[in-house]
Amino acid sequence: MWTKRGACDISLEPNRIGGLIELQATALEATANAVVITDQTGTVIWVNSAFERLTGYTNAEIAGQSTRVLKSGQNLRVLYEEMWRTILGGRVWRGELINRRKDGSLYDEEMTITPVQNSRGEITHYVAIKLDISERKQAEAKHLLLTERLSLATEVAKVGVWEWDLASNMFTWDAMMFEIYGFPAIVPLPYEKWSGVVFPEDLPAVEASLRKVIEEKGQGSAEFRITRADGAVRNISGVERIVLDEHANVIRVIGVNMDVTERRVAEETLRNSEAHLTYASQHDFLTGLPNRMLLNDRVSQAITLAPRHKKKIAILFLDLDGFKHINDSLGHPFGDKLLQSVAKRLVGCVRFSDTVSRQGGDEFVVLLSEVEHAEDAAITARRMLQLVAEAHSIDHHDLHITTSIGVSVYPDDGLDAETLIKNADTAMYQAKENGRQSYQFFKPAMNVRAVERQSMEENLRRALERKEFELLYQPKVNLRTGEITGAEALIRWTHPIQGLVSPAQFITVAEDCGLILPIGNWVLREACKQARAWIDAGLPQATMAVNISAMEFRQENFLEGVFTILKDTGLDPRSLELELTESVLMKRAESTESILKTLRARGVQLAVDDFGTGYSSLSYLRKFPVDSLKIDQSFVWQITNAPDETTIVTAIIGMGRSLKLRVVAEGVETQDELAFLQAHQCDEAQGYYFSPPVPPQQFAKLLETGIPGILH
Ligand code: C2E
Ligand code: MG
Ligand code: MG
Repeated sequence: MWTKRGACDISLEPNRIGGLIELQATALEATANAVVITDQTGTVIWVNSAFERLTGYTNAEIAGQSTRVLKSGQNLRVLYEEMWRTILGGRVWRGELINRRKDGSLYDEEMTITPVQNSRGEITHYVAIKLDISERKQAEAKHLLLTERLSLATEVAKVGVWEWDLASNMFTWDAMMFEIYGFPAIVPLPYEKWSGVVFPEDLPAVEASLRKVIEEKGQGSAEFRITRADGAVRNISGVERIVLDEHANVIRVIGVNMDVTERRVAEETLRNSEAHLTYASQHDFLTGLPNRMLLNDRVSQAITLAPRHKKKIAILFLDLDGFKHINDSLGHPFGDKLLQSVAKRLVGCVRFSDTVSRQGGDEFVVLLSEVEHAEDAAITARRMLQLVAEAHSIDHHDLHITTSIGVSVYPDDGLDAETLIKNADTAMYQAKENGRQSYQFFKPAMNVRAVERQSMEENLRRALERKEFELLYQPKVNLRTGEITGAEALIRWTHPIQGLVSPAQFITVAEDCGLILPIGNWVLREACKQARAWIDAGLPQATMAVNISAMEFRQENFLEGVFTILKDTGLDPRSLELELTESVLMKRAESTESILKTLRARGVQLAVDDFGTGYSSLSYLRKFPVDSLKIDQSFVWQITNAPDETTIVTAIIGMGRSLKLRVVAEGVETQDELAFLQAHQCDEAQGYYFSPPVPPQQFAKLLETGIPGILH
């Protein structure tokens, strides 16, 4: 038996062991590992102090017992079976198990049992060396958990992991890498297999990045495209870093790859839609030209640059002449194509550094960013007038349109974009008034006119309540009998300061600001009242013709208004005639037709005023239930002043007759005109030759007496 710590009285073959045993016993005692010696049954004979430290059991406590006291409850049946099989066979057994200390705590142990045999080969003892491996086990568990988590994370994030061993030049890929690249797992993976699927134009950059990582012993990243086995192009984002050995040599490069295609596509879409939005917010969708906003920016920019270059800037404000008619009569798709065609021509007139913009509708504003003299702008304006006027071939039709241009110049006519554009606009209006298809430079006096227009609007607002309007009546005469067939009511405005203002001046202003609605309503009521008064006075029958503006005709309760007035004034609808211009009729032809039909059904007569100046088309005359055509005075004027061009008058008369419409000639001033009209069997006429528009009392007299000696 072991007698005292550090020495042993070993009963087995003492002679042979002698002093050596002492040495060995001391060594066993001193070793850091726990040592247990048992007999062949497993009963403990001796433990060293390391055992005591490890388990808490002293030599005295454990000697004579089995080490079973250390059992933790772990099921070790299989382990023990294997152990006994091994050691009974005389071989060394090594295994790992969990034991319980004296204080109840658990620890991981690696145990090596070596059987000790006597000279006859019989097992007499076992020597067990126990190693506390708790720390290692914990670290392993942690590591296992970590790698498990990592692989899970890489799987979820679709991150492929790779490793490149520099010594063997072999690649190792994890399963996700193969999935990302879309080819079956290959072990070992040759470099060419990878480089072969990378886009050739991306490969040099990726390889350079890899080289740099190795050279600088650092970390790098790259993004590149690959063609997967299925042909799909994918965007790959990679990060790589080196692994060093203990001598700081690079032995490996490790890295991750991620498929970022979706992200890139999303980013690209976002970028595209952003770019698209910016473009859309700055351009006109129809013509693709810069819009008002972008033009303002460019003008402001040009203003800051102009003084540096000692140049001027010119703004050309264009408005197409009569575009509304085209749009109304031929339809919006047609109008749109015409605008596109005009836009193209305008762009062709300027330099690359200039800007042609569309302001909306049929308005274009052109910025000439560097002009030497104002005359340069005039040259461009003339070129534009000419080019726009050339036939536009649209849907196999040749279409003609002209434009009016207003020009303003920086710094002469304004120091900021807003003023320059506003003044060019004002000048454009002047160009229109001067007879269209012309250009006009801005003059400060034009602003005076604009101010006048503004004050006219203010005065018009008060004119109704101040009773400044009155109606004059102009007779229409039957060219066969000389009888007065009717009166046209024509409004007059006597401005308290300016005196008489002609309707040509104020009707458009009233139309622009909407005042035409109350004014028109007043006119209709006043005229109907007057017509009824003449009838009540027993005067000969005469229809009352009233001019109706587009805005009045288009207002929602137009019909209701007309019928209310007829009812209120007690005028027979058959005594009322409404004069509408062609452009009024052409706009939204569908609703026009039903409004006209309703009026007609009640007996109200309808005349097409200023016939021949708009887009006269036979088809709409056939379609709409109108009673008469009023030949515009400009054609009547031609009878005396351009006798060769009277075909229009005769054509209109012929057209009217074939459609069974009454034809009325307006603005008849001379005997010659009258004779011509009579010769061509025009039905009626109106004009200074018979009578100017006159106040009601005077008209009553005309009705009473007739117009004596008018027909020969
Ligand atoms: P309109 O309906 O074509 O009226 C005929 C115009 O020709 C009238 O001008 C009339 O005074 C003028 N006129 C008559 N005979 C002759 C002539 O022999 N020679 C010439 N050169 N002119 C003649 P006015 O009264 O200045 O009216 C101009 C336009 O203003 C009218 O053209 C009509 O479109 C509009 N207007 C007049 N009164 C009203 C109204 O109450 N409501 C609406 N909406 N428009 C009106
Ligand atoms: Mg008229
Ligand atoms: Mg007229």
